[in-house]
Amino acid sequence: MSGNEAKYIREAFDTNWIAPLGPNVDAFEKEIANYVGVNEAVALSSGTAAIHLALILLGVETGDKVFCSSLTFVASANPILYQGAEPVFIDSEPETWNMSPDALKRALQDAAIEGKLPKAIIVVNLYGQSAKMNEIVALCNEFGVPMIEDAAESLGSTYKGKPSGTFGEFGIFSFNGNKIITTSGGGMLVTNDHEKAQKARFLATQARDSAQHYQHSSRGYNYRMSNILAGIGRAQLEVLEDRVKARRLIYERYAQELGSIPGLFFMSELKETHSNRWLTALTIEEMEAGFSANEVIQSLAEANIEARPVWKPLHLQPLFAGVTYYPHDEERDISEELFFKGLCLPSGSNLMIEEQLRVINVIKSAVKLKV
Ligand SMILES: *Cc1c(COP(=O)(O)O)cnc(C)c1O
Repeated sequence: MSGNEAKYIREAFDTNWIAPLGPNVDAFEKEIANYVGVNEAVALSSGTAAIHLALILLGVETGDKVFCSSLTFVASANPILYQGAEPVFIDSEPETWNMSPDALKRALQDAAIEGKLPKAIIVVNLYGQSAKMNEIVALCNEFGVPMIEDAAESLGSTYKGKPSGTFGEFGIFSFNGNKIITTSGGGMLVTNDHEKAQKARFLATQARDSAQHYQHSSRGYNYRMSNILAGIGRAQLEVLEDRVKARRLIYERYAQELGSIPGLFFMSELKETHSNRWLTALTIEEMEAGFSANEVIQSLAEANIEARPVWKPLHLQPLFAGVTYYPHDEERDISEELFFKGLCLPSGSNLMIEEQLRVINVIKSAVKLKV
């Protein structure tokens, strides 16, 4: 927390706005919309809810196809299942670890030949790094398929100067406890379409028609953000820039201290993008390094330090067995490679230098023991 959260929560208590609506919700929406430069932001109970509403607003229904990045958290794709639609997973490309425009192009060409284009494409910006938006947006336009930008991990990042989350028909952010700013749990749907934003607010409050009695003509959800939590979000947004700076410094220190070890490759930053470096991620080439990513995770665990593998690609998940998948090219499954070779290091904005040096030293000595 940054310090101002209690002030906004206090205001909510003092004015008795203890509900999933109120001044903090309205203000938080405006502040996020201003921050990323869009017309509308809709505060919701989670990032997952935001993806779900985006799919509904794009008309995704039973039997429709939705393309989605494979290397991501399961929350990117679960809402496809909520709608009874069929996910098709798209591989990463090696530079950004995000959706491969080559694989996307092949998938779109096949879908066009089949006469069944996807209703939406969900593009994820992993660990704060923007996907190759120019190429992806061009393909979306060429085939006339709308894009949902899953910017849950990339709030505060930019691509060619334009804020992450603003490249598709819809963008989504998450304020889950582990994200760069948090409301403990929460999310935001952003769009330039005023009508769609109003529809999202309507669907998120049980789709109640404007009648004096309780009348409902469509299926709704209880997806609005609480006015208390929106207060936390407002104070968090005030320190977002500091958080991005802190996380970038953490990345730089790791890269400086460990970057010269043979076989270690830190996730790079695509030219003309600015990553929030939500997590510092790297891959380890075992043949070159003499040790594996898993061994590093083990050594850290023995020192009571938690490091994690990168997301397990969704096309390898039992939940999605049998789902169509487009690898980067015939020979290379990039997301699978990243899964086997990748790891994320402790990257919290409040990580102290001494703590980070302890992580670095454990890795350095684990490496020495091996070589
Ligand atoms: C966290 C996350 C989500 C989901 O956000 P919640 O607020 O936890 O529902 C979606 N996509 C990605 C890539 C995420 O990291």
